[in-house]
Amino acid sequence: MPDPSYIVALTGGIGSGKSTVADLFGHRGVHTVDTDAIAHALTGSHGRAIAPIRKLFGEGVLAENGALDRALMRTRVFQDATARVALEEILHPMIRDEVDNALASDSAAQAPYVMLAVPLLFETLGFRGRVHRVLVVDCPVGLQRRRVQQRSALSPAEIDRILATQVSRSLRLQLADDVVSNSGEFASLSPQVALLDARYLKLAKAKASTGLKWQDL
Ligand code: ADP
Repeated sequence: MPDPSYIVALTGGIGSGKSTVADLFGHRGVHTVDTDAIAHALTGSHGRAIAPIRKLFGEGVLAENGALDRALMRTRVFQDATARVALEEILHPMIRDEVDNALASDSAAQAPYVMLAVPLLFETLGFRGRVHRVLVVDCPVGLQRRRVQQRSALSPAEIDRILATQVSRSLRLQLADDVVSNSGEFASLSPQVALLDARYLKLAKAKASTGLKWQDL
């Protein structure tokens, strides 16, 4: 099956603004595939991951509607590394399968390039070797914390625990090909996204037609 010829990974720490940036690319017509959305669907009430999760962890980790109780599971895996590995062993191969399917779809194959949102690109194996370019959404850690607190019911301690499982801001920036700076207003994002979109269209076209490397552009 055809695969898109050019894939850009979109990553960044929790609360950095990945979803916000992914939406802006989406509004420009960029084909996006979101591994977080895939994980949500897999663990939703009719998700494919529910049966193996129920088998391994019991009915107690499911909400009334049959979906995974994410808050409860988060607490559990923070306390128990074996449970975290077991959950990942169920979810990660399924996420990879779903990403493969999404990338093999006609609409992805026909898109000039595909943006693949992978929050934990640097923390987990499986996607880095697959993408041509890495875009990091960046803001100071204090701002990440504040934005997550405003958005969710997570406690400061839970936010710290999540941050501790993610690579540092400086390492993420070192590993980036491109960076969206999200330290300011929402309005500062669109112009950055527009420039990057133009760059990716050019890179994808060059790769498809001439085999030129991005360094040559
Ligand atoms: P992520 O997907 O990286 O976890 P989100 O895009 O969901 O981050 O952003 C986290 C929260 O911060 C959201 O509530 C979002 O609306 C808000 N947010 C993102 N960027 C900005 C910004 N530049 N100014 C103010 N709030 C922002």
